[in-house]
Amino acid sequence: MRTSYSALNTFQTCSLKYKFQNIDKIKTPKSKEAVFGTIIHSVLKFLHNPQPIPPTIEDVLEYYNNLWNSEIYEDKQEEMAVLSNGIKILQSYYEKNNPKNFNVIDLETRFNLDIEDITLSGIIDRIDKLEDGSFEIIDYKTGKKLPSQQDIDNDFQLSIYNMAVTNRWPKLNQPIKLSLYYLKHGIKLSSLRTPEQIAQTKQIILDIIEEIKKGNFIPTPNPLCDWCGYQKECPMFQHKFKKEEKEDIDIKVVLKEYYELKSEDKKNKQRVAELQKMINEYCDAENIERVFGDGIYITRTAQQRFSYDIIKVKNVLEPLNKWNEVISIDSVKLKNVLSGLSYEDKKEIENAKELKKEFKSLSLKEEK
Ligand code: SF4
Repeated sequence: MRTSYSALNTFQTCSLKYKFQNIDKIKTPKSKEAVFGTIIHSVLKFLHNPQPIPPTIEDVLEYYNNLWNSEIYEDKQEEMAVLSNGIKILQSYYEKNNPKNFNVIDLETRFNLDIEDITLSGIIDRIDKLEDGSFEIIDYKTGKKLPSQQDIDNDFQLSIYNMAVTNRWPKLNQPIKLSLYYLKHGIKLSSLRTPEQIAQTKQIILDIIEEIKKGNFIPTPNPLCDWCGYQKECPMFQHKFKKEEKEDIDIKVVLKEYYELKSEDKKNKQRVAELQKMINEYCDAENIERVFGDGIYITRTAQQRFSYDIIKVKNVLEPLNKWNEVISIDSVKLKNVLSGLSYEDKKEIENAKELKKEFKSLSLKEEK
């Protein structure tokens, strides 16, 4: 099987998008953000391409202007905002990264990495040789979000790139510096990988492939949906594009009433809580536990909640073979604990999961 880092990453974000892209091979036009990213990457390739006289900032900006594509923008104002943002990014990048200061050994390097029967391919933006003879891998990011150092230390893409470079230069005996350069912030975040992390990355790749082979492709709404080119095919969005309703049911009317009732429900809940507080305060002040209205009365009953000493209860119930009947796992707490566990432990817990029942719930949100 042939695949790429970006395909695996897509599968992890939304498996249905992976299917549209890699199995159904549905072509979509590139988003404006993707076009902008490609242009910036090409300009940085030009900037660092080893040549006797490195380009000046004027050469770089001229190159950028020549690549510019006006057609994809709806209006001049939007185009100018993006164009000037690109100029700002390149000027700030050039100030901090004069090309003559770097020993670039490869740009947009293609790689193929064999892991068991899988060939994983990808493109590394830049590989530099540092003064101490070690290598640095640099990948440029044009997105807005700046991740934490912990995210970088666990970044899947960088781990794969580390594997690709070690595979190409197996005699490298120094750790590879792995960097993501966030162009909009002008910040480069770097990290290293241990042999254990690399072994784990290999296992993660094999596990993702295993999941892909199972063929369960589920739409997974995520922050990137707004830029997804498959909204017309996706069950999470396709209704938005539907022109005519064939069904007898007028779903817009149904939705409107549902929304109104839910809003009313929310308001009622808030008011009920306020009234409960007033009733309790009245009873406290009068030192009574029952209060009468016109044909109705409300009674207060003391409620008590207890917690148990788990060890003591276990000591009594376990010898009676009753312990398993009372323990249950709190899935919310388990989810919190999982985030701090190793990949192997997480996987073992995942394998211990059993589907008890399946149902669909409705969640109501207002469109932005
Ligand atoms: S729109 Fe969102 S949920 Fe639908 S396929 Fe694209 S990424 Fe997945």
